Amino acid sequence: MSEPTTEKAPRKTLALIAHDGKKADMVAFVMAYREVLARYDLIATNTTGTLIRDKTGLPVTLMLSGPQGGDAQIAAMIAEHKIEAVFFLIDPLGKHPHDPDIQTLLRICNVHNVALATNTSTAEFIISASAI
Ligand code: PGA
Repeated sequence: MSEPTTEKAPRKTLALIAHDGKKADMVAFVMAYREVLARYDLIATNTTGTLIRDKTGLPVTLMLSGPQGGDAQIAAMIAEHKIEAVFFLIDPLGKHPHDPDIQTLLRICNVHNVALATNTSTAEFIISASAI
């Protein structure tokens, strides 16, 4: 008879990023889906992640702030298959000095076929379908 296995599936990593105009929406989203999101390893750009940690108490690994290269760091992790899905709440009405990094992140998600939500409606679909 074989031993019962106690091995658990490795936790998946979700990346959370929100532009300044969408940070309140991100915090509300994480609050609403806190229980589900707690099952994942969360990483985030610095300001977004600090806010999520402070407001929800969930552990978040912090990368650099977006304008300092945080989006590029997350893009590199996506290319290395370290990230399961990206919730990137983009402010389409804002100007972003790091737009090239933002475009890189979006492109790399598409190159590697990684789930990418750029608004809360899509993020809710992904999380409620438990598609990840
Ligand atoms: P931030 O970066 O979370 O450090 O504000 C997000 C972004 O603007 O890409």
